[in-house]
Amino acid sequence: MTNSGTDAVRIVLKNSGRELSVPLSLLEDKSREFLENYATFDLVGPEFRALLGEGDGTERFTGLLRACGFEDDSAGFFSALVPLLDGTGPADATVRGIRLPYLYLLSLLELVIPQHGYVSVKDVESLVDLTNLEVPDSQREDLQKVMEMYPVRLSYHTVRQMMLSPDVAYQYMPFVEELDPVGHANTWIGQFHQGLLEQMYQNRVIYLLNMSCPVYCRFCFRKHKESRNEENPTVEDVEKAIEHVRSSPDIKEIVITGGDPFLSRRNMEATIDGLMTIDHVQTLRLATRSVAYYPDLFLRKDESWMKFLKHKNYELQLHGKRMEIATHFIHPDEVSPVSLEIITELVKSGIAVYIQTPFLKDCNDRGPELARLFKLLRGAGAEMHYIYIPCSPIHGNSVYWSPLSDGIDIAEYLRAHLSDRSVPKICTATPIGKMEWYTSGWAVEPVEGEENFIWIRTPYTPDYFKSFAPLATELPNIRVNPEGTLDIQYMAKMGKDAYFLGSRPLRIQHVPVPMDVPETLKGLSLRPLLRCESIVPTGIPGLDRVHETRVEMDCRAGEEVFEYLRENPVISDVIVRPESGVGESLYRLKRIAGELGKIGHINAMRIRSSEFTCAPEVFSRPLVTALADMNHLSVSGPLRLEIETWFLNASQLTGEHRRLTRRLTNRGITVYANTPLLGGINDFPDEICQLTFAYRKAGIEFHHLYVAGHPVQREWNREHPVDMYDVIDIASKIRREGSGREGPRYILQTPLGEVYYGLTSSFIHGEDGIRVKLDSYSLPYFREMYPDYQLPENVEIGKDGKPVIPVSGLVSSTEFPI
Ligand code: SF4
Repeated sequence: MTNSGTDAVRIVLKNSGRELSVPLSLLEDKSREFLENYATFDLVGPEFRALLGEGDGTERFTGLLRACGFEDDSAGFFSALVPLLDGTGPADATVRGIRLPYLYLLSLLELVIPQHGYVSVKDVESLVDLTNLEVPDSQREDLQKVMEMYPVRLSYHTVRQMMLSPDVAYQYMPFVEELDPVGHANTWIGQFHQGLLEQMYQNRVIYLLNMSCPVYCRFCFRKHKESRNEENPTVEDVEKAIEHVRSSPDIKEIVITGGDPFLSRRNMEATIDGLMTIDHVQTLRLATRSVAYYPDLFLRKDESWMKFLKHKNYELQLHGKRMEIATHFIHPDEVSPVSLEIITELVKSGIAVYIQTPFLKDCNDRGPELARLFKLLRGAGAEMHYIYIPCSPIHGNSVYWSPLSDGIDIAEYLRAHLSDRSVPKICTATPIGKMEWYTSGWAVEPVEGEENFIWIRTPYTPDYFKSFAPLATELPNIRVNPEGTLDIQYMAKMGKDAYFLGSRPLRIQHVPVPMDVPETLKGLSLRPLLRCESIVPTGIPGLDRVHETRVEMDCRAGEEVFEYLRENPVISDVIVRPESGVGESLYRLKRIAGELGKIGHINAMRIRSSEFTCAPEVFSRPLVTALADMNHLSVSGPLRLEIETWFLNASQLTGEHRRLTRRLTNRGITVYANTPLLGGINDFPDEICQLTFAYRKAGIEFHHLYVAGHPVQREWNREHPVDMYDVIDIASKIRREGSGREGPRYILQTPLGEVYYGLTSSFIHGEDGIRVKLDSYSLPYFREMYPDYQLPENVEIGKDGKPVIPVSGLVSSTEFPI
């Protein structure tokens, strides 16, 4: 690669042999543009950001040239840089010792490979030509067989990412091991399928509007040619499916998917317009991976899809319904500024965007990459929903499989190092429906004589399927367990035998006696109790460090708070407690938002508001507008604003809460709620299910269901403890009867921080009560935040170095571990 004079930089792509030339002025302009708009703490990293210095794109570019030793010599700089663009430069992507961020290189690669759209690739030679990726001669013949069996299709956006990121190439580049026939042909159970309609759950159906995708992921069950070549449904088929929903009043949500449903505008229009007229339909969930791998789809033709979505969302709202976009991202290298822009734009228009992430061995299975992925997406406005463990066992995708224990253990890392609002739930999609680990499902035992299969406990019962898929319970790989739900055989390795929990016994008859919510537990009287304990001292009155990534602060906090935040770059979230209410504290809230906006690593300000529950009328139009002005959803240096509130039961939620939530979400402000389980008051499956449905209907995200340890519980549940059996019953009912989108995370709060019930914690049952081992935390974890940290006296250290602490207000009526 040489500089051909001073006007252009010549690039020879090594593996494909293609020669290209890019005008130097374009490379300079692109650099200035990138550095001005995207050189933020999160997108390029703190070191690179610091070496650029302040100023506009031109000044930052000058700073970069200087740092790399090319002051006044941009031609020399780009000649040194181009080997990084085709992967022949140093593996750590450095120029004279300065590491250049992936996103910066990607922006320059757009000048080298500027095409949009996607291409089907038929043979190995074309594949190498397109991607410049190396295919050894010894593999070419087999790879051709793979491509004939499982087609290859790539967007140019993906091609650029694949050239720079092995973790992106790993997902889309065909490989010879795909010829291995081990695994299933697909993950669906046939009897749920009727035309374009699938029904796996009582209250929702899936519409398959289009059978192919713009890009083919190698791990997906749709890799089979037959699946991709299936005929697409017609508008008449769509109309039939709409009539099915019209005559099925149990169906509340429709997942519109494919393939990619956005490849069929006619079907999409017919679907949304048809479903809009059905009273009992509440939510349309539009699933597409194109946000990540083919964002051009949303931007071409003058952003026609974006306009369509906003318009249809408005119409749906007029009919009392909502739209959500489901997308999936796997690795942070898939996150591009343009994808973030799409998410931000949708969320600002009141369309929730939620993220699902398949767990792929050797790609996103270590922890830090997922933490970075979720932090970036959250700043743009997305909501993290599920990590699917393990990768579904499909023919020829065994390279992506990992034992279930790897996926379960990843929660420990995420819980410790990521904001609680950014951690998805850990879920496994069994052939009869999904379950969430250690609340609505768990591994029971290995399947005898089948070393690749285990029994998984699901929350589903034989009765559950009667109305819509009666054959489901006659499958040979299903059994009814002692507590009356279904276990199903699942193809996976467990990884750790200790993670098999066995079957939960049937509980001896239990007759709960519900009582009314006492006045003392309602509304404002609880406000002083809503303060969480600091897990390490901060030395600053009014500032509590409640997690590595999160602080809580009073509105009146002074400059020393911002100094503390600036000095701790792992902190991403700030919860503000406006003691005298949101309205009265507006001036102070604005000031805090202004200061936080200047701190690059802070990307969320969360206002804890009991007024939202007790006095929603306080949120006047001017107040909502003022809050919206503080909400800076953005690709570059976001500061996302959220309202945190809480309710105890469904009857507390009114039409006023629903209207207010809609006004806030239409300005891109998320409202989420936490609820403490209170013995005798709301610790019943029906009660929490009703609350869950009410939250969903109102558009409020049910974030945490506190099982124990919340300040209110420490008072109330001492006398009225919650039974662990009820926790599992509640979670099972929500997973079975809810939409899948509305269930909370089940949380224990302790003086050492919060943990997920059963997932990042384990229970020790003793005569003196229940103690819990906090699997995410250890002494060094706290000392990273506060070097002189000492564990409280009542904390022991388990054999694995994890703290063990008593839990009050929680009992267990059986010996079962969770
Ligand atoms: S986009 Fe989704 S449906 Fe299409 S190939 Fe990838 S994972 Fe499969």
